[in-house]
Amino acid sequence: MRFHDISVTVTSMLPTWPGDPKVELDRVEKIEEGANANVSRVAMGVHTGTHVDAPYHFLEDGTTVDTLPLDILIGSVQVVDLGDQVDLITADVLQKASIIPGVSRILFKTRNSQIWERGETEFQTSFVGISADGAEYLVSKGIQLVGIDYLSIAPYKNSRPTHQILLNAKVIIIEGLDLSNVKAGVYQLVCLPLKLGGSDGAPARTVLIEQ
Ligand SMILES: [Zn+2]
Repeated sequence: MRFHDISVTVTSMLPTWPGDPKVELDRVEKIEEGANANVSRVAMGVHTGTHVDAPYHFLEDGTTVDTLPLDILIGSVQVVDLGDQVDLITADVLQKASIIPGVSRILFKTRNSQIWERGETEFQTSFVGISADGAEYLVSKGIQLVGIDYLSIAPYKNSRPTHQILLNAKVIIIEGLDLSNVKAGVYQLVCLPLKLGGSDGAPARTVLIEQ
């Protein structure tokens, strides 16, 4: 059994969505200054780094992240490598993408993963996302969980339609995955968003298990 950690490390250098809070992670009690223990505090948006979007993120009466079903967050997943030529994941791209029939969880590796590999600290706007018709295609195929390797499942300038289509269909969205060291194939996915009560999203340590 081999484990692949596909989560990005949360530090104050992590790029964040324009307008979202920056990550603050500081040690507020220090052993070297006489404290009994080291204690840090964290302040950040819930859509920081590798994270899950709950329906409530885009739907006024949507469910929140603490109630997302674990039986979708954990289980068999297909990693699809779209290479570095795809700029927008449309229905047409998906039709040609050798998705295994009947698969219910899917992660897309795109040229986005190179952004993490390069260690970019500036937010990038030209990342690859899923178009509205791509989202409709995934819903029609019975996909229950979809992940992508940058900070939004949708293209930068048009985030609402893709999110709404997926979240309305109760598809769990994972964003901010680092798939740079992972090959296409089938794995076991373990994605555990923090149990933040009433939240529209939560950071999630996310791991692939190769058997
Ligand atoms: Zn999000």
